[in-house]
Formats: sequence, C-alpha cells, structure tokens
Amino acid sequence: MSKVATKNYVVVSPLTYTGAETRGFTYDSGEQELPVGQIVKVPLGRRQSLGVVTQINLPKPEFATKPVSEVLDLPPLPAHITNLATWMQDYYYASAKSVWQTLLPAGITRKRRIKEVEPSPLTLKPSTEPLTAEQEAAIKVVETGQRPTTLIRGVTGAGKTRIYMELVATELAKGNSAIILVPEIALTPQLLALFHARFPNRILAYHSTLTESQKHVAWQRALLSEEPMVVVGARSGLFLPLARLGLVVIDECHETSYKQEQNPRYHAVTAAAQLARLAGAKLVLGSATPGVQEAYLASEGRLNLAELTKRVQNRSHPEIKVIDMRQAEVKQCGSQISRPLLQALTETLEAGRQSLLFINRRGSASSHQCDDCGYVSSCPTCHLPLTFHGDRTKLLCHICNYQLTPPAICPECSHASFKFLGGGTQRIEADIQRLLPKARLARLDKDSARGHDLAELHRQLHAGEIDILIGTQMIAKGLDLPALDTVGVINADTMLHMPDYSASERTYQLLTQVAGRAGRGDASGMVYIQTHSPTHPAVTATVNGDYWKFANAELAERQEHGYPPFRYLLKLTVSHQDKATASRRAQELYGKLGQVEQVRRLGPAPALYDRAGGQYHWHIIVKAASRPRLLAVAKLLPDWCKTDIDPINLL
Ligand SMILES: [Zn+2]
Ligand SMILES: [Zn+2]
Repeated sequence: MSKVATKNYVVVSPLTYTGAETRGFTYDSGEQELPVGQIVKVPLGRRQSLGVVTQINLPKPEFATKPVSEVLDLPPLPAHITNLATWMQDYYYASAKSVWQTLLPAGITRKRRIKEVEPSPLTLKPSTEPLTAEQEAAIKVVETGQRPTTLIRGVTGAGKTRIYMELVATELAKGNSAIILVPEIALTPQLLALFHARFPNRILAYHSTLTESQKHVAWQRALLSEEPMVVVGARSGLFLPLARLGLVVIDECHETSYKQEQNPRYHAVTAAAQLARLAGAKLVLGSATPGVQEAYLASEGRLNLAELTKRVQNRSHPEIKVIDMRQAEVKQCGSQISRPLLQALTETLEAGRQSLLFINRRGSASSHQCDDCGYVSSCPTCHLPLTFHGDRTKLLCHICNYQLTPPAICPECSHASFKFLGGGTQRIEADIQRLLPKARLARLDKDSARGHDLAELHRQLHAGEIDILIGTQMIAKGLDLPALDTVGVINADTMLHMPDYSASERTYQLLTQVAGRAGRGDASGMVYIQTHSPTHPAVTATVNGDYWKFANAELAERQEHGYPPFRYLLKLTVSHQDKATASRRAQELYGKLGQVEQVRRLGPAPALYDRAGGQYHWHIIVKAASRPRLLAVAKLLPDWCKTDIDPINLL
C-alpha cells in the first residue's frame, strides 16, 4: 500500500493575461502548499507567464490542470495587495495585465542591489511647536471616529502636514506602516526633507521620476522590510507592499492627478478606501476644497469630518473683490484688464510689491456669452454649455449632439452683444506691457516650466526682480511669495462655462487656490476676480469662504440633472483617423448598447476636442443609477473602444 500524494490546487492571476472576463486560472502546485500572494511562473497558452496566487485550497477541479512551473524566491505579497488586485479587476472591469502593471514594478525577476536609504540633501527641522486646538481635535476625530475614513477640510496654511506627521508617529509606535500620498507637483525636496527629519531611516520616496530600477528597489524594500516604513509618494505609491499597513493619507485629495488616465482608470481615493478596508487601516483625506463627492459622503455620515478654519501663525485671509464685467464702467476698451484691476496693479507696482495674473488654459472651449448679462446657451438635456464646432454656424452639445443656431439676440436680456469666450489669453502679456510699460513681467506656464528655467524664475521672484507674474493652473499650486500682494483672475467664466459636469467644482477649487497665493507674507493680500457671473455659487463661495454652501448648491444641481454622486457615468471614446469611420463606429456601438436595460445612453457626439493626435474622436456617455449596470455595458464593448468608468470629466 503506497500513500497517494494529494495535489494542491490554486488560482493564479497571470501578469500577462489581457482579457477582463476572468480573474485567473486553476493550476496545481503538486505537494507544495503555496500562500496567497506568492509570485509564481505558470504555463499560459504556449508561453510561460509570471502570476500571483490569488486563491488556495481549491477542491480538485473536473478539468485537467497544468502544474505551476516555478515558485519565485520572494515573500508573498500582503493579502491586502492581492485582494486589491482582484477588486480592481472587478470594479473597473480591467484585465489582469493592466492591474498588475499598475500594482507591481517592471522587471520583477531582476536581481537588484538594495541600497541603504539615501539621506535627504536638505536638512530641515521638524516643527516642535505645540499643536493648535484645531489640530488636536482633528487627530482625535481620525483616531476615535466611527468611520475608517476621515475627511480633513483645512484652509491653506492650516497645518495639515503636521497632523499627518503626528498620525504617522502613532502608527509607527504601534509597529504599523503608513502611506502618505501627495500630488506629484507637491512632492518637493522640502516636503521629503521634513519627513526624513521627523522619521529618519523610515522614509520610502516613490514618484514618477524614479527610474525603473529605483522603483523596483523601493518595492523590494517595502516587501522585505521587517520594520514599519513610511511611504511618501505620488499616486502609485499606494501600491507598495507594506505588510502591516495602519494609515493611508491622501493630501490635496481633490487633485485630478489622482485619477489614472490609462487602464485600469482607477481613482486613488477610491482605491485607497478599498485598500484601507482590506488592510484594516485608517484613511485620511485632506483638502482645502474637497470634491463634492466627499462632501456628500461626509454629510451622509459615511466619513468622519474634521475642519481646520484658522491659518497657523494667525496669518490673515486675503480680501477678495469680484469685478462684475457686465458693468460698462469697469471695462477698458480693447483690454481684458478692468479699470479696478489696473489700478490695483499700478498701486502694487508703485509700492514695490508683486502681483500675479491668473489665466485659464485648461483647454479652451469655444463658446459664446452675452457681454451684457453673462448668458451662455446650454443644452436642455445635459444642462452643459453648448460649444462651436468647426465653423461658427452651429452650437453643439458635445454629450448628446443637440444643435442650435446661435441666437443673435440674448434670450435673457434681449441685447445683441454676444462675444466669443475662450482664447485671447496670449494677449494678456502684450496688454500689460502696453498699460504698465515699466513693470518687469514673467510668464509661468507649461512651456516655461522646465527644470532649470523654473528654478531661475523662482529665484528672480524671491529676489524681487519680477513685478508681475502671468500664468496658468501651475501658479495655483504651492507658490509662496511673501511680497505677493495682488492676485488677479482675468476671466473666471472660461472655467465656469466649460461644458463639463465638474466645471463649477473645478472653478471653485482653482479660484480658492489662486486666491490663497495672496497675503502669505506680513501684508494682507487683495484678490480680484473678473467675471460675467458674479452671483454664481462657485464665485460667491470663494469670496465668503463658505465651502458647505457651495457644496450643497452644487450637489442640488447634480441631483436635479443626474450627475455624480447621484448617477454613475461611463465615458466611451471611439477614435479613428478616418472621419466617417469614427462616426459610423460610434453610431453602431450606440445601437448595440440599446440591449442593456436600466441605463441611459447620450450621444454619440463629437468629443469637445474632436480632432487630436491625428484622429477623430466621438463620445458616448452612459448614465445609470446603479454601478453594476455600467459593468454590464463594459462587458459588451469591443477592444477598440476606450472605456472610462467614473470619469472625472466629460471632455
Ligand atoms: Zn444677455
Ligand atoms: Zn446635451
């Protein structure tokens, strides 16, 4: 009698499998018992593929199985990472390949030498100031709140970073690791130096400028470390395999860079909430201007809420003035600079202080607006502004393809003074040169923001060699100039009237951030916002700092018109270099989606930026009250169609 060896059966998710319809395949590992998270090599078709064990202890299947070829000499991934991969595949209807490419570093089988942590080139002293009452209260909410997730809404300069550090210290003392995510642009040497100083030998920096090899080394250090570690990184730092994860922090959680724009198009906040749940960790979301999605969850009691209303060191909030551009007396002929703004710029220049002019360059929607009352034509179905396409004979809804002959007479005020919105921003510099010939100007935008130039520009700004800085979105992020007294927003309407459901939210966030650049020194700052829509909630909330009033007004709008968080959205993009083919494919796809029940199809319509990268782009937007309905749609889609579940914009 010989004892028959029993085989072990496991499910392996292959790192190279491109289909989204399956989570993995069953293999046998012979007599060897493998743990969940073990990285192995398995046969897949005629090739060998790396894979991760996702399920173990399966009964012997009815069908024949192939054996696991090789077990890699690495400790298993933590269970929360393996489970997150499965969740991501299901939640975003994504292939194993796209998910593992997101979660694991490239070249995982390579042997790399693990170096000691490099000391930070900067040495900064962490703050030893006592915590403010608001900071202490926020920490208490995180640690004792009913929910695993806490939203910390704190005005710029309220000392959120200090709160994160105290929370990290608590976790480290318990033997737990922590992950701090910040937007790539905020991941500065100064921030890293602060964390290095407070937590020596514990910091793992992780961001997109690391080489493939550096990323792999950081990943290995996380996986092999027996000590708790602190990841300070950009979006993908979330997936470092730390064994005992106690805390995840997402700072500036409203930033659009937390959404990945390649498959699987995940949002770091959503993925972090799931990761924290799987790991039994706490999640902290920090922002001065959280998205209304988070506001909604907080108001429903599904997040703990802590608010910081005071700037540390009692720096004052800037004063904000709205300039109503509908009023003839503020306008200057042939210029986009109003009289009050010009006067402020002149006075600031004469006082030897600095000014900043903000122009919106988030693409430019070609729309038109009544110069007398601010009216913009919008789609009766989608409640989004209509834009011109090609020639300027038709206004079009780029979501549902509704078309309208542009009105000559304003339906609101009966005047005939429509003007084009968007464009013209390049004229600002020339405008200022003409109006203030003595001022020393500089531009800060994507073109001028490259390495050396940027450092030189910052030096000039701090040395007071520049009087007026003109720039785009980048300005809003982190510029800290003590001599900056005056901020001017040239045209809030170009942001406000973008044909997108999140336009109001983005406008409020940008205006608040831009305004926060003024008055960071001893003098109090002045902010001027030029707009034809002075009563819009995004504008008034910026002025009076009433975040909740804005969030509630915006949520009411979204509920009425069926946008997130009250409806789930799926954005489909059909692209082709041939114009007719793009349109025909979009029509066919639209027809095919008719078989899915309980969803609403909008379109097909040419995308707002309908010709980009040598191709024609069409969109179909699908709305549903339940998210699984959108997954039912995703399952029907051909692979030439770009799929974005939970898109953060409809552009
Ligand atoms: Zn009008
Ligand atoms: Zn429409």
